[in-house]
Amino acid sequence: MRRYLLIEEFTCQECHGSGWVQHPLWARYWEANPGGGLTVEEDQTWFREQGEYTPPHLIPEEEPCVECEGAGKIRREVDLVTALVAIGLLYAVPITPLVGEERPASVYVTAQQISAAIAAAVTSIKSYRELSAAYVAQTVWGRVQQPHLPLHSESGQDAWNAFQDALLERTP
Ligand SMILES: [Zn+2]
Repeated sequence: MRRYLLIEEFTCQECHGSGWVQHPLWARYWEANPGGGLTVEEDQTWFREQGEYTPPHLIPEEEPCVECEGAGKIRREVDLVTALVAIGLLYAVPITPLVGEERPASVYVTAQQISAAIAAAVTSIKSYRELSAAYVAQTVWGRVQQPHLPLHSESGQDAWNAFQDALLERTP
């Protein structure tokens, strides 16, 4: 088996890219003493009472972020298909398996394949389903432009199912 992997890099959500986070004890300190204003001795006493006084200095208020190990960004391997879906060059079309049938959870298609499938769906869906076919085209194109929008309503779901069937017939 051969896999193609890419490196995904993104800003750490924990430290927002700075690589540093506030020590939790300091967060408690500011909660307990809003506005500060304590003397050095009072500060030392407060930290000593928490069991965290490290003479002659208080523990640093900021410490390296554990999530990104202080780098401010996180890098990880992702497979090529996941990356292409994330940047919108491929679309993951969820597939509802029929009873007793093994199908993949989703198929990956390009915008061109979607376009072809819509055309096929519109021409193959007859009379009483014409309205639904038009809905399919409209809905799918909406998703092509805004792929993260969820589908709403039962008729939307029916149209989506019809679209999937049309698409599956043409997806190797
Ligand atoms: Zn971080």
